Amino acid sequence: MPDEPVFHGAPFLKSLNKGLYEPAGSRSLGESTERSSKHNRAVTAEVPQFQEWRRAANAIKAYTVRNLDKLLVEFERNLTARGVEVLWAADAEEANRHVIDIARRNGVTSVVKGKSMVSEEMELNHHFEAAGIRAVETDLGEYIVQLAGQRPTHIVTPALHLSAEDVGRLFAEKLGEPFSAEHQHLTHVARRHLRNEYLKAEMGMSGVNFGLADTGTLVIVENEGNSGLSCSTPPVHVALMGIEKLLPRIEHLPVFLNLLGRSGTGQKLTTYTHFIQGAAPGRKLYVVIIDNGRSQVLRDSAAHMALYCIRCGACLNACPVYRRAGGWAYGWVYPGPIGAVLVPHLVGLDQAGKLPFASSLCGACGEVCPVKIDIPHQLVHLRHRAVNEPSPMRSWTERLTWTLWSWAMRGPLRYRTAMAAVRLGVRLAPYLPWHPGKLGAWTRARALPKVPGPAFRTWWRRKG
Ligand code: SF4
Repeated sequence: MPDEPVFHGAPFLKSLNKGLYEPAGSRSLGESTERSSKHNRAVTAEVPQFQEWRRAANAIKAYTVRNLDKLLVEFERNLTARGVEVLWAADAEEANRHVIDIARRNGVTSVVKGKSMVSEEMELNHHFEAAGIRAVETDLGEYIVQLAGQRPTHIVTPALHLSAEDVGRLFAEKLGEPFSAEHQHLTHVARRHLRNEYLKAEMGMSGVNFGLADTGTLVIVENEGNSGLSCSTPPVHVALMGIEKLLPRIEHLPVFLNLLGRSGTGQKLTTYTHFIQGAAPGRKLYVVIIDNGRSQVLRDSAAHMALYCIRCGACLNACPVYRRAGGWAYGWVYPGPIGAVLVPHLVGLDQAGKLPFASSLCGACGEVCPVKIDIPHQLVHLRHRAVNEPSPMRSWTERLTWTLWSWAMRGPLRYRTAMAAVRLGVRLAPYLPWHPGKLGAWTRARALPKVPGPAFRTWWRRKG
């Protein structure tokens, strides 16, 4: 089984190489992403109005992001009117403080968690552990990676890198169950163990897929029923929501429900859609609304689209880089193309400035995105900023390289001279005493390419 991944700002290339050296993990990942992409293509092809839905979703999200300040206030007002306690968190630290404080106020010692990427972003489980509170993930994939002591590799299917055999061995080791690689058996084992956790827990946590501003409704979609149980079985429910998860009105929801299931898991609709409108009698509901870097995106008008994301994961499945490298390679909670766009905004280019370069710009991500986020252009925009903004991550050698590159690209003579120098350099490199392996990660992991025959212009000239 792959080792514990390196997180928080691991340089992309270093982690990427680590991912590539895990053949079993890579195979599971490649097969699963291909399968998801196929489902996605099949269910979207059967809907003639799919492109219309995408345009509508894009327009609704654009409106929402433009009016986020007003909509958030409306959402809070409607939640409060329903007896919900709303807490605002500027960053992950404040959000964690709120959650631990709620747990302490309610005498909580045990928590069940439905799937929430925001809680991953906050590293909430570590904070629960430090506070002496037992927290158990209840989404099957999250439960598996939690048992394995790992991090999710995918935003929708967290244990995508593990085969059924891996999970069977894990359940045998951690839960004392007889080994089996049969899917249904494994699901039953997890269900049996998790059922006890629901009965013990004093608090349930969930994410929020959509918050409806006009009614203060929380909409949670899922396939396993675990989020519904996490919200409704324990007496206290805490929902974590990023500020961008709003929709203005309930009429806007159907198009997103149609898109999310199809793009996420290739289903026409996810199995469960929960609508939560306030706490049931005798129970408590808290909603923690989290910024954690999202309002930074609002400052850059060319980057607003990053906030349209509904976390369907389709761009990950379609991305050739993600398919080869896996989620850990990105070093942050959000991997794949949307991670390469979102994370530099959330944590700053100084920490994640290499991520926008983790793309071949083939455009597959933009083509599948159900809300029409122009991911390739977002990546180019971030690359431009990463190269032009001063950043402690950029060494003098990198700055010199890009300065020379930009100089060489500014005239045909300079370009030809630079290309001749590169060709000569690549020819000589194998004879240099400090090669191979001393030129960084790329030369350690792969051989230098053979220099091809004459350049096209030279060939053309010779041919007359
Ligand atoms: S960027 Fe688009 S395709 Fe990728 S996860 Fe977000 S909504 Fe899905």
